[in-house]
Amino acid sequence: MLFDFPDFDNHELVLFGRDAASGLSAIIAVHSTALGPACGGCRMWPYANDQEAMRDALRLSRGMSYKNAMAGLPLGGGKSVIIGDSRKDKSDDLFRAFGRIIDSLGGKYIAAEDVGISVADVMTMGQTTPHVAGLSKGHDASGDPSPFTAYGVYLGIKAAVRHKLGTDNLKGVRVAVQGLGNVGSHLCQRLADDGALLTVTDIHADAVARTVDRFAALAVAPDAIHAADVDVYAPCALGAVINPHTLETIKARVVAGGANNQLETDPMGEALRAAGILYAPDYVINGGGIINVSAEVTQDYDRDAVLRQVERIPVTLTEIFRRADRENRPTSAVADQMAREILAAARTPGAKAAA
Ligand code: NAD
Repeated sequence: MLFDFPDFDNHELVLFGRDAASGLSAIIAVHSTALGPACGGCRMWPYANDQEAMRDALRLSRGMSYKNAMAGLPLGGGKSVIIGDSRKDKSDDLFRAFGRIIDSLGGKYIAAEDVGISVADVMTMGQTTPHVAGLSKGHDASGDPSPFTAYGVYLGIKAAVRHKLGTDNLKGVRVAVQGLGNVGSHLCQRLADDGALLTVTDIHADAVARTVDRFAALAVAPDAIHAADVDVYAPCALGAVINPHTLETIKARVVAGGANNQLETDPMGEALRAAGILYAPDYVINGGGIINVSAEVTQDYDRDAVLRQVERIPVTLTEIFRRADRENRPTSAVADQMAREILAAARTPGAKAAA
């Protein structure tokens, strides 16, 4: 039963969509519209079972509520998942069918890119609904959010390195990047430009080979990246990578990367703190992409204004790091509290009108 599901957090709405003709099975989760229409990416992934897909949709959509709140955006939190293999199961019919399902919500949920979903896929969804963003064409199109996400993650890594390692310079700092897709590859470029030393992995050998060639990176197996002998571990693939098994072997003193839901469970935030590892809360450090998408949804798209807003990410992170130190609490708990306070204030009757 949905309401008893461990990751159900009073989500406003969960929609299960199927289109037999195109083979579409999808879930849309709207966690909160307190701050505005729920906006968040669509993920395509070959989930092992429906429970796993549901868990991802519920956790990711709550994360979007927190992310949008912490980035100061007038957007609520939502996310969608399409069950399938993005390398094999995509078709225009499938994305048009998904667009129709998004459309049935009348703008309560706005979809953009996430793992497995490209700008072209979102454009195809846009043939059957206007409630999509991260487009490459059209009024105020903002394009691929990934370079903006990667820029925010890069700035966030610098803030975390400054706080934990006491240096402003990434030259010679060893960073392990897990996942070399849209975010990870842009992040590698920025880190390499600053002289960081990269250790990388991906489940796709072609992505690894490209990165090793371009940046003289060291490649390790996907199941060895968390244990790499580095200063910073930057998860940029899927979630739950900080868990009791990986924690024992992490050598990095900083965990800061673009992936959503890095902590397998909330208590892993305290476990990181107890191990002396500084964690940059994922939904704060990876907010650059949604800041860019938001500019398309809510205003005339202005790239410079977007960049200025992304540059606030290290400021917010530093505030979280300092508060966590002062209060002797995990950074994740401090960020969760800050996000919940913003959402609670927005839910207060009259708050939106007064804002
Ligand atoms: P992507 O699909 O382009 O890249 C993900 C990469 O991770 C792929 O190359 C995939 O092969 C690899 N991967 C998957 N499982 C792996 C494993 N076990 N070990 C190593 N590599 C693995 O996705 P993306 O857009 O780069 O997103 C990456 C992460 O960042 C996701 O968690 C996503 O939710 C998050 N995120 C993305 C954006 C964005 O703007 N794209 C914004 C915020 C958060």
